[in-house]
Formats: sequence, C-alpha cells, structure tokens
Amino acid sequence: MASSAVRLDLDGKPIPAITICMIGAGGFIGSHLCEKIMSETPHKVLAVDVYNDKIKHLLEPDSLPWNGRIQFHRINIKNDSRLEGLVKMADLTINLAAICTPADYNTRPLDTIYSNFIDALPVVKYCSENNKRLIHFSTCEVYGKTIGSYLPKDSPLRQDPAYYILKEDESPCIFGSIEKQRWSYACAKQLIERLIYAEGAENDLEFTIVRPFNWIGPRMDFIPGIDGPSEGVPRVLACFSNNLLRREPLKLVDGGESQRTFIYIKDAIEAVMLMIENPARANGHIFNVGNPNNEVTVRQLAEMMTQVYSKVSGEPSIDSPTIDVTSKEFYGVGYDDSDKRIPDMTIINKQLGWNPKTSLWDLLESTLTYQHRTYAEAIKQAIAKPLAS
Ligand code: NAD
Ligand code: UDP
Repeated sequence: MASSAVRLDLDGKPIPAITICMIGAGGFIGSHLCEKIMSETPHKVLAVDVYNDKIKHLLEPDSLPWNGRIQFHRINIKNDSRLEGLVKMADLTINLAAICTPADYNTRPLDTIYSNFIDALPVVKYCSENNKRLIHFSTCEVYGKTIGSYLPKDSPLRQDPAYYILKEDESPCIFGSIEKQRWSYACAKQLIERLIYAEGAENDLEFTIVRPFNWIGPRMDFIPGIDGPSEGVPRVLACFSNNLLRREPLKLVDGGESQRTFIYIKDAIEAVMLMIENPARANGHIFNVGNPNNEVTVRQLAEMMTQVYSKVSGEPSIDSPTIDVTSKEFYGVGYDDSDKRIPDMTIINKQLGWNPKTSLWDLLESTLTYQHRTYAEAIKQAIAKPLAS
C-alpha cells in the first residue's frame, strides 16, 4: 500500500497511523487482521501470541514491504510482565486470546474459564489504568439459547423474529444449568464483557466489544493429525474439511439440527477495520458481526460442503456422505448447544455502515479450494504411511 496516501475515516477525517498491540495475533482471526493491516494501512502491529505459524508469511523475509511495521512477541499473557509495557507502547489493544473450541468447554472447563475471564482481566486493567483504547473479542455464544427454543415445537411464535433474532441491547443471555459445562465459555465471556462495560461506565475506559457469529475461512483451527493433534476436535469447518479430505462421512452431532449463520472471514475483517479506524463511532458499543443471510442447519452445511468439495477437488463424494453421532459420543458429558444464531445488524449498520457480502456457497468454494490445496497431499501421505511401514 502507498503509505503516503491520505486515508479518510467515515466522517471524512484523515486516519492517523497508530500502533496496535494485538494479543492472540497468531490465531485464525489475528492472522487475517494482521494481513489486512500490513497490506492496506500504515499502522504498526505488536503481535503477541504463543504461536506464530499462521503469521510467519508476514514476519519473513525482511524484504517484505511492511518490514518493521509488525513485530512478534512470543508471550503467554497468563504470566508475563512484558505485557503491560506493550499495552503502554500502543494506542490501541485488541484482545483475541482465548480458548474458543467447543470441544474444550466441557472437557477443560477450568482452562476455558481462566483463559476467557481471568487471563483477560490484566489486559482490561492495563488499558483502563493507562487510558488506552481496547477492542475485546467476545462471542455470539453469550446469547446462549434463543427464547424461541423454550416454546412448544409447534408454536407459531417460533416463526416470529422477536423470539430468535439476537440483539446486542435487548436479547437476554440464556445458558443451561451448571453441569452443562458447555456454557463455561459463554459465561466467562459474558462476565468479562460486563467488567469492560463497567470500566467504561465508572472509569471512562474507551472500549468496543465484538461478538463474532461463526467467522470461517482459510487458516481456521487445524486438520487433526496434520497440523494439530490426531485426537483434537476443532470447530465445524475444520472437522468437516478433515472428513472430506480423508473421504470419511461428516459427523452430524445430534442430527445436525442446530442452525448457524456463517460469515466469510474477509467480510468480517472489514468490519473490524472500520472499528479500528473510526473510534468515535465504535467506542462504547457492542457489535454483532455476522451474516444473517447465510443461515443453514449443520446438516445443510455438511451437504453444501460435500457438493462444493467435489467441485473443487474433482472427486465424486462417497456413497454415505454423513453419519449421525450423539453429542455425548462426540464431545462427552456436559455438552449442550446453541439452537439458532441470527445476528441483528441494526447497530453495526447505523454506527459503521457495514454489511457482509459473501454468500455461503462462494465462501465455501474459496475456503475449500484453500483446504484442498494446503492439505490434500499431506493427508494422502499420512494415510499411505501405515501401509508402507
Ligand atoms: P484462535 O484460537 O485461532 O486464536 C486465538 C489465539 O490466541 C491463538 O493463536 C492462541 O495461541 C492465542 N492465545 C490463547 N491463549 C493465549 C495466551 N495465554 N497468551 C498468548 N496467546 C494466547 O481463535 P479465533 O477464531 O481467531 O478467535 C479469536 C477470538 O474471537 C477469541 O476470543 C474467540 O473467543 C473469538 N470468537 C471467534 C469466533 C470465530 O468465529 N472464529 C466466534 C466467536 C468468538
Ligand atoms: N458439529 C457437528 N459435527 C462436527 C463438528 C461440529 O455436527 O464434526 C456441530 C456442533 O455440534 C454445533 C455446530 O456444528 O452444533 C457448530 O460447531 P462449532 O464447533 O463450529 O462451534 P459453535 O458454533 O457451536 O460455537
């Protein structure tokens, strides 16, 4: 990008170049955000994470055009005194660090609660004490289940959007009972949201809270046995990609009846950029970021991914492309699910004029093309190995 070009915010004012402390920069969302900031803005990034595999292409070689604008700091925010110094050096802190895979919520509830609440506390405190702006990543899961899910199955009210559309400033947060440890994540995220909100109200912390609704795309999670543990269970995009790459049936948890709206990571990153560069419009707000037009059941997602993968790989699908599994078998005791997640877009529309663009089919086509190109050969070799030895 021509860093001398004047870039204007939504109110026509020049956008100053800033330094961003990005915690969790080495993850799925962080890697896309770093890429966008490096290629299209003059901002500097202090990238904090325990891993950097997903941003290696931005850190090396030294001749890249943004050389010097991104620095990687290998820091575990649980126990590293260097964090406060980095927050102080930056104009804005973005906190993405979290344990955020559902397979962990009921099997590692302590780690989940520590990661999403306790470990985020110092970040909020350093921002508040040093008068630094914070963009904190929460989750759509704070809404939990919809009000409609408690209505009788045949109730006509289930068709009324008032019973299922999720609104930042109106919808309640409805979680299951304590032994349903699935909700340990949502509950920890909700409490940190409340703390940030209170810091804003009592101590004037400038904050923005982001609630992502199933952002998906390249570099999400890992493929078990290839670039992650063989027994690991990533989020649904990577689970289904793994099944397709290995020519196994896609596993539908409890019939695949839950509904989700999926958004392409590149659309979602545009929304985050607007938040970064329009603080006057974004501060003090909680934003849903999702694509209400891309709603499917998990079963429909499996069917669409099977079709798209056949197209991009040139291989016909297997005879029985899906198989039903219970949530207890797949995730263990204490799993529960969000029934339906459609974001209301009123606030983000009004404040930032943002709308998602990419259809589910198109985003799956580009993402599965990436998965095929990145993993198909490695999977073939991994499958062939035991036979050869
Ligand atoms: P991710 O797991 O790919 O990224 C999280 C990153 O944080 C990882 O690179 C991890 O190494 C790092 N991290 C975790 N603990 C750390 C620690 N103690 N010190 C340093 N680094 C640490 O996940 P993601 O999908 O990029 O999600 C980012 C944020 O967005 C999370 O807060 C998540 O809860 C939220 N979110 C994402 C989605 C989505 O659709 N992807 C949905 C809801 C919420
Ligand atoms: N799921 C599934 N099969 C899989 C992985 C996930 O049926 O192999 C379901 C899961 O039970 C949930 C949905 O897909 O209903 C989305 O799961 P994900 O892990 O992406 O996270 P969530 O949206 O629940 O936060």
